[in-house]
Amino acid sequence: MLGLTIPEPPRGCGYIGRFAPTPSGPLHFGSLVAALASYLDARAHQGQWLVRIEDIDPPRCQAGASDSILQTLDDYGLHWDGNICYQSQQTTHYISALKQLQQQQRLFFCSCSRSQLQAHTTYPGTCRHQLGAPVKGACSYRIQAPDLEIGFDDLIMPTYKENLAQAVGDFILRRKDSLFAYQLAVVVDDALQGITHVIRGADLYQQTPRQIFLQQGLNLPTPTYGHIPLIMNDQGQKLSKQNFAQAITTEAAPALMSQAIQRLGQALPAELVAAPVVDQLSWATQNWNRTLIPCHRQDPIAF
Ligand SMILES: [Zn+2]
Repeated sequence: MLGLTIPEPPRGCGYIGRFAPTPSGPLHFGSLVAALASYLDARAHQGQWLVRIEDIDPPRCQAGASDSILQTLDDYGLHWDGNICYQSQQTTHYISALKQLQQQQRLFFCSCSRSQLQAHTTYPGTCRHQLGAPVKGACSYRIQAPDLEIGFDDLIMPTYKENLAQAVGDFILRRKDSLFAYQLAVVVDDALQGITHVIRGADLYQQTPRQIFLQQGLNLPTPTYGHIPLIMNDQGQKLSKQNFAQAITTEAAPALMSQAIQRLGQALPAELVAAPVVDQLSWATQNWNRTLIPCHRQDPIAF
C-alpha cells in the first residue's frame, strides 16, 4: 500500500514542536531567535522540542554547518529531545508521498524552461496534460493548485488565507535536478516527526496554505502554526547567510540570549540580563507569553 506510515505520538505528549534550520552556514542571531521561540513555546507547554536539519538542497549546504549549528544550540542551552532528523535521509518517504499524489492524478510532469515561464507570475498550466509517464528530457513534478481558498489561524500573526490557483499556481514538488521541493519535504517530515506546533519565521507565513493543501492531499494532520517577525539587519534585510549575518559565538551567549528573549517581547528582569543562559531560559519558559511577541502584518513577500 502506498502512503506514509505516521508513528504514534508518545503517550501523554500533546505538544511536539521543532526547529528546522538549513545548514547553509553557522547559526546567526535571526536563527537563534527562531530557535528560541519554538523552544520556549514547546517547553512552556510541557512539550517536546525536536531538531530537524533541512539539508535537502546540497548546493545550499555548507560542510560542517550542521554540526556547528547543533553545537551552538547546545552551548546556548537549547537542548533538544530525541534524535536529529536529517532530510537527506528521508528520500524514500518523499518518493512515497509523491507516488500517493500521483495516484490521485494531481501531479504532472513539467518540461517548461525557465525562459518559457519568465513572463508569468503564476504557472500558466502549459504541461497540465502530461499526467502519466514522464516526457522526454528532464522534467519537474508539479501539483495542480486548486481554485480554492485555503487559510489558517496563526498563533501570533493575523489569520491568513489565499486562493492557491490565483496566488501561487501549480507548484513544484520535485525539481528538474531531482531534488525534492521544500514544500513536500516539510509536510512529510512534520508528519513523520509527529509535530503538533510549528513556530517559525514569518518568511514562511504565506507558504503555509500550500503546506496545508499538501497535508490534505496526503491525508496528514495539520499542525498549529505561529509565525514570528523576522529579524532584520540595518538595511532592512532579513538576517541570513546571504546577507552576511554574523555567526554567534559561545562567549556572547548570555548577552545574545538576553537580546533574543527581548526581541520576542518578553520582559526579562534586569538582574537576569547577562545571567547564565540556563537561568534566562528558566525564567523565559516560566513567563512565556505569546501575546507579547511583536506582531506586524507584512506586505506580501515574493517567493
Ligand atoms: Zn510546464
